[in-house]
Amino acid sequence: MRFGGMISTVDIKSMSREECRSFFESVGEPGYRADQVLEWLYGQRVSSYEDMTNLPRLLRAKLAEVAPLRSPEVLAQRVSPSGDTVKYLMGLTDDNAVEAVLMRHDYGLSLCVSSQVGCPMGCAFCASGIGGLVRDLTCGEMIDQMLAASSDAAERLDGMRVSSLVVMGSGEPLLNYDNVIKFIRLVNWDRGFGIGYRHIAISTCGIVPGILRLAGEGMPLTLSVSLHAPDDVTRSSIMKVNAAYPISTLVKACGQYAQITGRRVTYEYALIAGVNDSPAHAERLAGVLRGTLCHVNLIPLNPVPETPYVRPASCVVEAFASALQSRGVEATIRREMGCGIDAACGQLRRRWVSRRGAEEADPG
Ligand code: SF4
Repeated sequence: MRFGGMISTVDIKSMSREECRSFFESVGEPGYRADQVLEWLYGQRVSSYEDMTNLPRLLRAKLAEVAPLRSPEVLAQRVSPSGDTVKYLMGLTDDNAVEAVLMRHDYGLSLCVSSQVGCPMGCAFCASGIGGLVRDLTCGEMIDQMLAASSDAAERLDGMRVSSLVVMGSGEPLLNYDNVIKFIRLVNWDRGFGIGYRHIAISTCGIVPGILRLAGEGMPLTLSVSLHAPDDVTRSSIMKVNAAYPISTLVKACGQYAQITGRRVTYEYALIAGVNDSPAHAERLAGVLRGTLCHVNLIPLNPVPETPYVRPASCVVEAFASALQSRGVEATIRREMGCGIDAACGQLRRRWVSRRGAEEADPG
């Protein structure tokens, strides 16, 4: 690509460091310009080439033409009453939207990002899967979620920085594998956001080939697996993925992941009243997981209005946790966050989609 005659534009935020280096070299610039620009974008969080003062003036002007920067667009923002959770509805250039959630913990700020618009997996209890998959997010669209939350945190929370990341919003990240991995490597880069791999978690509903591929990336990420049931009959009734990758295959792949990366696997288990929350379910789950390097995260279900599922009473949740612990399986109950702000994954976007649909049907 030349800088001379105008050619099509490129999205610099969707480039890996290597791709960005090749881009600069292809237009006759030294490759080191790539790291300079990416450091300005992700380390200094500037939003205009004009502010990248160590680049020649002419280059800044050309970049603005050839690789225009679009600032992240926050369509809506909900803050929980405690102020500890902020949900962002991020607008995309093609009129779609995704959610990102910033959470303040005692150990710092963590951000949950989406990896797809909608989700193809159709888990029965989840708002994100209701309309199916719309499309994969680009790396740049995931970067924009980081940028929006980071600048909001810098303004509202005395300059606190996002120190951990979970890829757990809408979408199945292992089905948008290349973009997600590129995004994670950029977020990890020490001259950019600088989030260590050990502070990054990737959540999957159980795509076994993706888990095994991830194990070979040389990135000690936390693998978080949505298990939600201890047996194939129960799991298949709420998660379609179980038909392709049943529990025994999944747990074996997780064991391989733990062995190769040295990282303990987290199993997410959403407790749904009358579906997977009985003492017998706890006993079966302990049988499946005992002796594996893992931790179970019990999540009282965040009910989604479009589904029939409800959360169990808190005494049932506590009894389930004790039943696992007494059988030697490490388990904790996840702290409630975001109640009252469309807390379950995908709810804010679903409300936005239905409101927009109503407006389109009745524009007056
Ligand atoms: S729980 Fe995760 S994998 Fe399942 S439909 Fe929702 S976003 Fe997709």
